[in-house]
Amino acid sequence: MQKFEHFIDGAYVDSTSGNSQAVFNPSLGVESGQVALASIADVDAAVASAEAAFQTWRHTSPLARARLMNKFLAILNERKRELATLISEQHGKTILDAEGEVIRGIEAVEFACAAPHLLKGEFSDNVSTAMDMYSMRKPLGVTAAITPFNFPVMVPMWMVAISTVCGNCVVWKPSERDPAAPLKIAEYMIEAGFPKGVLNVVNGDKVAVDRLTEHDDIKAVSFVGSTPIAKYVYDRSHAHNKRCQAMGGAKNHMIIMPDANIENTTNALLGAAYGSAGERCMAISVAVCVGDDTADRVIAALTLKIKNLTINHSMDEKADYGPLVTKQHLEKVISYIDMAEKEGATLLIDGRGFKLDDDKYANGYFLGPTLIDNVTAEMQSYKEEIFGPTLQIIRVDTLEEAMRLPSEHEFGNGTSIFTENGAAARQFSDNVEVGMVGINVPIPVPMAFHSFGGWKNSAFNEHNQHGMEGIRFYTKVKTVTSRWRGGESAEFTIPTLS
Ligand code: NAD
Repeated sequence: MQKFEHFIDGAYVDSTSGNSQAVFNPSLGVESGQVALASIADVDAAVASAEAAFQTWRHTSPLARARLMNKFLAILNERKRELATLISEQHGKTILDAEGEVIRGIEAVEFACAAPHLLKGEFSDNVSTAMDMYSMRKPLGVTAAITPFNFPVMVPMWMVAISTVCGNCVVWKPSERDPAAPLKIAEYMIEAGFPKGVLNVVNGDKVAVDRLTEHDDIKAVSFVGSTPIAKYVYDRSHAHNKRCQAMGGAKNHMIIMPDANIENTTNALLGAAYGSAGERCMAISVAVCVGDDTADRVIAALTLKIKNLTINHSMDEKADYGPLVTKQHLEKVISYIDMAEKEGATLLIDGRGFKLDDDKYANGYFLGPTLIDNVTAEMQSYKEEIFGPTLQIIRVDTLEEAMRLPSEHEFGNGTSIFTENGAAARQFSDNVEVGMVGINVPIPVPMAFHSFGGWKNSAFNEHNQHGMEGIRFYTKVKTVTSRWRGGESAEFTIPTLS
């Protein structure tokens, strides 16, 4: 049985709490380890280590930090498979999908390597006689990263890589459900040469989150997870005078216009709805078909493709998707399918009761792909995030009607439109009330040099994740005005140009 403790001040440290929680192998449906749940003292030790490291780290040059980041990048590239295996065994996403996640995390590290350029300030000479003005981006201090189970490497890299390269030190609290990869990342950073304390990993639950969001030495909190906790973390961090960016849940709609190429569209939809067993915040969970004929053609094509999906244990390279993360989550997703059925939606393909042929995986948390037609905006199963391999279909008559669905939904993370009509695509992308939009792209996750963030109840923040938004979030601006000329006379009016 594996044990996952904390990584504080450059080394593994046992928890002082005595509390721990089971970690599972979702393919087998068995407990595979125990993760420590930090006490307040554990969190305080991590923050103290980060604060001590910050006193030196803040003064290292951005170039020196970027060079270490480059070494870290090389390690990540070399050990992609090792990390992916750790993710896949605890999360349940397929090994190839996990490797894809690591590659998307690496993008954030690549972006961070550009720190000397990204942190360049602004300079204006001669704003007045012999007077110059310049602005600099300064680090904040210790920042906290609180991350979800579904991307145990990619999402944290948005925070850890960018915060540290900006000169901050980080205390990272990963999800309790897949702690192996985060601890490995901490090891890699030490191996790359980062000073101890620049990154600390504390495993834990609400106790750790509550401590991080109130601790005086934490200056900013980055959170990604479900909406109720995002809102809680955002409010609590603000109440304790911290910056906070808190990304929440989603319900992502794909609008399918009558002129869309059905073959391409349903291929895109299949991967976006069922990939990673639907446990992606940018998964497509609702297909909005404009016209009954469009809906019928989409369903006919999709049904054939769904029947050919391969669902298997997560280490099978040929599997399209694996199990859900925990039994509890499997039961939650099943309860939403039950709900949709009771609400009067049509269950075209029912994944409940799905089992793998191999008895070894009889207890795995598997769910078959589920396709639900005739869903309406009034249904509770539509209003809430399901986070499983389920796709709901809504039929509408016009683009305007289609656009109202994502625009009026509580969540506004991602959406996409599939069409051959540029004017329709533009009208949609320009007007839909959602933060990230794809045009003939099903999962429009921005590259690391752009910024990630939803709207409405999908994000509570002033700055998005990564890209220049990330740099702004993790730095504060100082502006210096200097004059190298003696003998000024006293001025009593507000200084103006002279
Ligand atoms: P979660 O909200 O359960 O957990 C996220 C983090 O919050 C974890 O570290 C967890 O330990 C902590 N946490 C959980 N309950 C808490 C509580 N009561 N008090 C304080 N902290 C608590 O989310 P999850 O199930 O790990 O992840 C899935 C969710 O994350 C989905 O809703 C998904 O849409 C969302 N997500 C959003 C994005 C995005 O960028 N918008 C990206 C990935 C995942």
